[in-house]
Amino acid sequence: MPPNATGLPYDRVWNFSAGPSALPVSVLEEVQRDLLNYKGTGMSVMEMSHRSKVYDSIINGAEATLRRLLKVPENYAIIFMQGGGTGEFAASYLNLFASKSVRDKQRKLGRPLTCDYLVTGTWSKGGLKEVKRLGGITNVVADGVKSTESGAASYHSLAPVSEWNLGKPEETAFVYYCENETVHGIETPSSLVVDAVDPSVPVVCDMSSNMLSRPIDIKRFGAIIAGAQKNMGPAGVTLVIVRKDLLEREEPDTEAVRGVPSVLDWQYYASAGSMPHTPPTFAIYVCGLVFKWAEEMGLEALAQLREARAGLVYDMMDKHPDFYRGVVDKKYRSRMNLVFNLPTKELESKFVAEAAERNMIQLKGHRSLGGIRISLYNAMPLEGAQAFVAFMKEFYAANCQ
Ligand code: PMP
Repeated sequence: MPPNATGLPYDRVWNFSAGPSALPVSVLEEVQRDLLNYKGTGMSVMEMSHRSKVYDSIINGAEATLRRLLKVPENYAIIFMQGGGTGEFAASYLNLFASKSVRDKQRKLGRPLTCDYLVTGTWSKGGLKEVKRLGGITNVVADGVKSTESGAASYHSLAPVSEWNLGKPEETAFVYYCENETVHGIETPSSLVVDAVDPSVPVVCDMSSNMLSRPIDIKRFGAIIAGAQKNMGPAGVTLVIVRKDLLEREEPDTEAVRGVPSVLDWQYYASAGSMPHTPPTFAIYVCGLVFKWAEEMGLEALAQLREARAGLVYDMMDKHPDFYRGVVDKKYRSRMNLVFNLPTKELESKFVAEAAERNMIQLKGHRSLGGIRISLYNAMPLEGAQAFVAFMKEFYAANCQ
């Protein structure tokens, strides 16, 4: 098929969606090639029993590739689940409170442990709310930064570590944060958190929107959770990487074990190779292909590409800061989700409409914030960011006063 105006094959557009989002074309092509008859099995992966030998090799292959790619140590389990990031908000709390180590610590303290939440935007706030909903005792480590006018929390920067209100290690079950806030466009450097937290307290991190964008020092985390639908594959599968000692429970089957619903139970999934029941077979298969693609690209190269793509757009914003109004503190700008405002709502609508004429889609900010948001995940080539910046330049020249 001849390339269209974007230069992309198959008449594809520049897709700046925050998720589900663009997948690498080579992965989609492989899916297409194998769609009707997967490697001579005479059927699609969608039609295959998850208890078959062929599917075993698909899911085990996906896990093995990811383990190599992220250098996941042997004392960490890799689990594919369902329920999205939202399911994991509850799962993190329920599983950790069912773990032997947390229960031992709680017995020693003589009262329930607290869950520490660093709130940096919509999704960490979502995690906090879910724990409250389940009756957990929470402590807010910091809630964005205080807006000078109203005193309300504002999610455009991070409160300095010196102002964080971390609980005492002996009273804290875990510390939770979201590394990349997809809505607010804020990235929290992992070193800030893992260096600030006492090593005896597990850190739980939501990496839904920046997973696979850089190498990760897995051993600094108790658990990492991530929905697949941004950087890893289609919606429907959720990844959990968890330190195995946190899966240990009290024996025999106690109240703690019964406190975790099966579909959220990390131990149940880990002990059954992510298949205690029917997994999202096709989504896991596509993730496996994306993992292979990322391995071929290399995580260091993907991290450099992320800097280059985002750098182009931020440079243009910084050239015209009165027109492309970035709201996020430069130190914490996300390299995945870039947010800005234009001087008026009318200009924002015009920007979105004119971009669409150039096959650039999904530019509107999250419905809770408005403005413009573009998402530059792994599958976005540098050319996509270049095309977007060329459009920003043109739009500025035509519309600045
Ligand atoms: N965490 C982050 C960082 C997200 O961006 C999202 C969704 N965009 C979620 C959690 C919630 O994920 P889901 O919609 O898969 O439940």
